[in-house]
Amino acid sequence: MLELAHLSRSFGQLRAVDDVSFTVPSGKMIGFIGANGAGKTTTMRMIMGLLAPDGGTVSWQGNPITRDIRSRFGYMPEERGLYAKQPIGRQLVYLAELKGMKRAAAAREASELMTRFGLGDRLKDRLEKLSLGNQQRVQIAAAVMADPIGLILDEPFSGLDPKAVDEMAGLLSERAARGVPVLFSSHQLDLVDRLCDGLVILADGRVVAAGSRDELESRGRNRYRLVIDTDASWVRGTPGLSVTQITGCTAVFEIDSPGAEHELLTEALRRGRVLEYAPVRSSLSEIYREVTA
Ligand code: ATP
Repeated sequence: MLELAHLSRSFGQLRAVDDVSFTVPSGKMIGFIGANGAGKTTTMRMIMGLLAPDGGTVSWQGNPITRDIRSRFGYMPEERGLYAKQPIGRQLVYLAELKGMKRAAAAREASELMTRFGLGDRLKDRLEKLSLGNQQRVQIAAAVMADPIGLILDEPFSGLDPKAVDEMAGLLSERAARGVPVLFSSHQLDLVDRLCDGLVILADGRVVAAGSRDELESRGRNRYRLVIDTDASWVRGTPGLSVTQITGCTAVFEIDSPGAEHELLTEALRRGRVLEYAPVRSSLSEIYREVTA
């Protein structure tokens, strides 16, 4: 497990990362989200030892992380790590060798990964000859090669088409299933929602929410939807709840006083047929807007 405790970093007067603590458990995919400039890249650079924190610690399996441990991580930096003018295969093999892999095994893995992405015949091409999306696939391949013990990926899905997103997500899930902790940043909230076991939401350098989606949702507003077979405008004015929307036979409301939802249901049944009565699951964008407001 990777653990960040009270990590901080300033640039001049700007506190880019401010007392950030969270964990990335083994085998879990954690989505790291936050507005531009929230501090995600700075945090990831500190995890990887590329930037020194002003305070706080990064730990691996309960001990301070070392250079040796970091060298066994797969990292995809924001500025991307591979050289545009170098052949793809050679770069992948070289990077895997740096992580201690034998050349023949590295060449085999590079070939397997590229074949899996439909790029098996491009290993000798310079990276710049590939489309941007395919270059991104190669960058992700570079991070996952040589059995990394942890994965830190800065916006790995940006610029990928939906099929490529699914392929790359599959690849990362496989690594997580082997017990690898995976932390990735993204602005694509739907994607994060679909892929992640947990989320960390950063705003102005601080963690404003962290946990599983259900945990975050339970901290949010408690909303219900009622659908009846007649006009629902009577719901407005019911004590103990705040109506957010009434459209014809449908009312959406938040519960202010616990128990008010039961009284509302009793009243609805007294008036006629109830076609639907259920809690409304918030979208991740709604949760995000609430916690960063
Ligand atoms: P984005 O989603 O746009 O990539 P981010 O969440 O990754 O943003 P960071 O890149 O970590 O945000 O930046 C956090 C803040 O720190 C920003 O205000 C940025 O301008 C500032 N910053 C980052 N690196 C430096 C640096 N080397 N020198 C000065 N300021 C920096």
